[in-house]
Amino acid sequence: MTTILVVEDEPAIALGLRNDLTLEGYSVEVAGDGETASRRATETPFDLILLDVMLPRKDGFAVARDLRRAGLKTPIILLTARAQEAEKVLGLEIGADDYVTKPFSPLELCARIKAVLRRTAGGHPALYRFGAIEVDFERFQTKRAGLAVDLTPLEFKVLATLIQARGRLLSRDQLIGQVWGSGVSITDRVVDNHIMNLRRKLENTPAEPRYLLSMRGLGYRFENPDENLTEL
Ligand code: CA
Repeated sequence: MTTILVVEDEPAIALGLRNDLTLEGYSVEVAGDGETASRRATETPFDLILLDVMLPRKDGFAVARDLRRAGLKTPIILLTARAQEAEKVLGLEIGADDYVTKPFSPLELCARIKAVLRRTAGGHPALYRFGAIEVDFERFQTKRAGLAVDLTPLEFKVLATLIQARGRLLSRDQLIGQVWGSGVSITDRVVDNHIMNLRRKLENTPAEPRYLLSMRGLGYRFENPDENLTEL
């Protein structure tokens, strides 16, 4: 059974979450403050942590940051009160896997939970689709509207790395480490060029990318707007 640690200090919301998630078949434990959450998350191997940002004693950002610093890899979804870009970026930077903005519907939340669990469990599927693009990870082939797209091996690797981390910000350094390997001297410019080439080959409007997104000079993020919908 998949176990979820819900960290929420408002009793009514915590109860609602417990009920919704239990109905979905998850085993739920609730922690009402940040310190309890940090302790429980390290004591017990939860499958996922649903973490409110505004918490007594220790806020959600501090909880997430400390857990990641301690080496905990449990997926974390932040519950943010406001749809503030700065808050989202901060959350993703400190190692949260996704965020949901309050108020949210149980359907939306469950779709996010499923997406995060699947992403963190199995990496990417053998075949992954977004828009008119089809990526075959076994044959290392990419098609656009059924026609082969010519990607270089490094472009394919950049794309695969971004898809695997979809929804999550990857800094240029992280991309370099995962694609080229650490200890290799690769400039940010090289990363940017690979992204530009991928956008040119895969995006309908490369100047206004829908999937291969830049985040304020921090790095890149792959987003598939259709994915959450197909999982409902
Ligand atoms: Ca709260």
